Amino acid sequence: RAKDSLGQDLCLFDPAMDEDKRSRRQLAVDLRGAVERGEMRLLFQPQHSLKSGALIGYEALARWHHPVRGVVSPDIFIPIAEETGEIFAIGEWVLSEAARVAIHWPSHLKVAVNLSPVQFQQGDLLQRLIAVVLDAGVSTRQIEFEITESAIIADRTKALYILRRIKALGISIAIDDFGTGHSSLDTLHAFPFDKIKIDRFFLRQAATSSQAVAIVRAVLALGKSLDIPVLAEGIETEEQIAFLVAEGCEQGQGYYYGRPQNAPSREDLGRAFPPPTIEGIAGAGQ
Ligand code: C2E
Ligand code: MG
Ligand code: MG
Ligand code: MG
Repeated sequence: RAKDSLGQDLCLFDPAMDEDKRSRRQLAVDLRGAVERGEMRLLFQPQHSLKSGALIGYEALARWHHPVRGVVSPDIFIPIAEETGEIFAIGEWVLSEAARVAIHWPSHLKVAVNLSPVQFQQGDLLQRLIAVVLDAGVSTRQIEFEITESAIIADRTKALYILRRIKALGISIAIDDFGTGHSSLDTLHAFPFDKIKIDRFFLRQAATSSQAVAIVRAVLALGKSLDIPVLAEGIETEEQIAFLVAEGCEQGQGYYYGRPQNAPSREDLGRAFPPPTIEGIAGAGQ
């Protein structure tokens, strides 16, 4: 669709677009106070070691239960929350809820919580995060924050300051959706990341695109040179696991292992997947 120099849509009379805008504006109004009204839910998606199949933790993913529209996806409401500032309340709620759930888990299992770039603009972000974690009583070793490169771009010095202090507390940091944003090698070296999450786009393309395979390999080489694990997002098939293991990828997350679900049960926490077969690995990706 055509855009003007400000990136705004030129189709001013598109009735569908107006409807979109109206609906977005209404959602922004409805979102105000959603946390206090108890409309937010947290789902948990498992993360596994690819080789052993062992469970290593869960990513916490927010859902908004709108009183009229039903469940609203975070791809819709997080950008709105970032615009209106509601993300501060939501972000704090997500962390406290994640910590409240993870405190019942074996100590080797982590909960990964997404931090919005907008939260980095909050002057007292560190104090607030610490207060929430201390209040929940969970070990900081069980918490991981997932951030995207856009969190760093606005103010690198400030972001580095915040991330160093988060790490000093024992909380680990993953770089999320790696490869899609303004990824630079420079950033990876300068920032204290504990994990790279490669965006699910590349895995989906890998079956048909040699370029995507090359990108997956490059990210894995990067992880190796930095001595940090790489987690592949969006694993849906055993073939993908075999390919990833053959390429040296250590961790994964996706519908194959489990969809985002309510707080895991005791049985869920003991769950492992059988390691991929040797034949599968030998036949994959060549
Ligand atoms: P993300 O952090 O990259 O989360 C992974 C997304 O991929 C999740 O979508 C998950 O359901 C989806 N996914 C996982 N495995 C598969 C798979 O095998 N196939 C496919 N097709 N998709 C898979 P979800 O839950 O809709 O979340 C979307 C995005 O919304 C997240 O992307 C994250 O950026 C954002 N988000 C979710 N919860 C929060 C939150 O509490 N705070 C912030 N700031 N952002 C959040
Ligand atoms: Mg994430
Ligand atoms: Mg991601
Ligand atoms: Mg994403």
